[in-house]
Amino acid sequence: MLGCLAAAAAVVALVVPTMQTIAVAVCIAATVALIVVWYRSFQTLEDQSQSVASLEVKVDRLENESRRHSNALDDLADGLDLALFLTTQDQQILYANRRARDFFGFDDPTGQTLLAVTLSNELTDLAKNATESKEPLRAEITLSQPRERIVLASVWMESSNQARVFVSLVDVTSLRRLERVRRDFVANVSHELRTPMTTIRAMAETAEDETSVDDPNRTYLTKIIREVDRLTRITDDLLILSATESAAPSKAKFDLAAAVNAVVQQLRPKASGKHLSLNYTAPPECTYYGNEGQLTQVVINLVDNALNYTTQGEVNVTLGFDPDDNIVLKVQDTGIGIASEHVPRLFERFYRVDKGRSRATGGTGLGLSIVRHIVEAHGGSVTVDSELNKGSTFTVVFPNKRSASKP
Ligand code: ADP
Repeated sequence: MLGCLAAAAAVVALVVPTMQTIAVAVCIAATVALIVVWYRSFQTLEDQSQSVASLEVKVDRLENESRRHSNALDDLADGLDLALFLTTQDQQILYANRRARDFFGFDDPTGQTLLAVTLSNELTDLAKNATESKEPLRAEITLSQPRERIVLASVWMESSNQARVFVSLVDVTSLRRLERVRRDFVANVSHELRTPMTTIRAMAETAEDETSVDDPNRTYLTKIIREVDRLTRITDDLLILSATESAAPSKAKFDLAAAVNAVVQQLRPKASGKHLSLNYTAPPECTYYGNEGQLTQVVINLVDNALNYTTQGEVNVTLGFDPDDNIVLKVQDTGIGIASEHVPRLFERFYRVDKGRSRATGGTGLGLSIVRHIVEAHGGSVTVDSELNKGSTFTVVFPNKRSASKP
């Protein structure tokens, strides 16, 4: 419409070309042009304010969404059954979930140090080590404040820029208490059974002595003695197992090569009785820092098994060092071997590939779990490599001989 007015003014100015008409036409055209410019800028402003408004809506929506996510994360962290802290690298607490606040009895521990809140040097050292090494770390820690508890602590760094540190604590107090109750129960039962078993054996032996060889009752008495002996072996093994579980081994320096040799000599008559050749290769001396009694038990169990499950051929015991200077003990036999499906469960308590054969050899099903417990308590590992009807090799590796032999 404004454009039409301007055009009309221009036409008038052309048709009636007086000075007055020209001036009027110019004024009209200028006014029209001004109106057009003002109208356009008004429209632009209106457009801009519309897009600002829609941006504001978008920002609001994003803000709401991020608040919702952050609230959901808070709810998630509060609902977890573990205490969770987020700290700076110098252990100033930035966030603590509800469990962490309840755990240490703080309404709001943010801004305080991890040490001030937990009063645990062990935990703060763990956090410090994880921060310095930039590696996630875990450890079982005993907290004494506000009351004594055992926790499994994990520390790890924020993944994006490693600027912040997460610390989580899982309370394992009742789990450890239950384990101790179970251990004590097994040890007490085994201990209590010893006296009646000794009495039963003594009485059965006396009765056997007083029974003539052709008396059919003699077979029962012999069986009673054999079964009591088996029960005694089981209770002895259970006592060894609970003793190794309940405390870290007390260690001293000793010659492992001589200890292994003593076991080999002790079992030599058993090998000769089965017409098996029992060979031992070792360095002249191998000083080790460990529990001599427990490690002797490991060697007895492995060599005894090798003899039990081998009918012909040989059993080779080798002690030496690998390229990393770790101490390696190998017990290799040419026996019945173990099918691969049994290998993963072999070190479990009472797991036997063939119960009948194990019983016949006087086995308890506890020998290998004792081996694993003792070896792991010394920081080592035990593995088995076996082929059915060809034989088995049990390999025990103890950490680096230099560090292992240091007190
Ligand atoms: P056990 O007292 O029955 O020998 P262990 O815990 O010592 O119990 O061994 C568990 C099972 O592993 C044994 O019953 C046996 O089936 C198998 N086993 C252990 N050592 C050998 C071996 N050298 N050769 C073949 N089988 C073995």
